[in-house]
Amino acid sequence: MREVSYVKCKRCGQIQFPRARCVKCRFDGFEEFHPGWESGSLVSFTLLHALPERARGEAPYALGIAEFGGVRCFGRVRGKDLKVGVKVRAVIDVVGEVGGAPIRGLILVPEE
Ligand SMILES: [Zn+2]
Repeated sequence: MREVSYVKCKRCGQIQFPRARCVKCRFDGFEEFHPGWESGSLVSFTLLHALPERARGEAPYALGIAEFGGVRCFGRVRGKDLKVGVKVRAVIDVVGEVGGAPIRGLILVPEE
């Protein structure tokens, strides 16, 4: 997955997108932070059974939240028999299509 830039506050440890000051303690000293998109953990998920007609063949469609070393993100979840706590990696791939053009998004892929 393409690396997303985060920073970690040197005073309190807050992880955030780059800003002039820490959103928690207002300190202005940061170090780069890399979440490690290859080794996350599924925090929560839901299964959608009532889908728009164009996507009915994909039911149940899973959406979930995963944590990667202090950063939580939301995306589609691939796989079956999902359980909270399962190890996942994050990838960017096609999640849909509009007017013939592919739409890319975050996909959480459980470890096999
Ligand atoms: Zn801070």
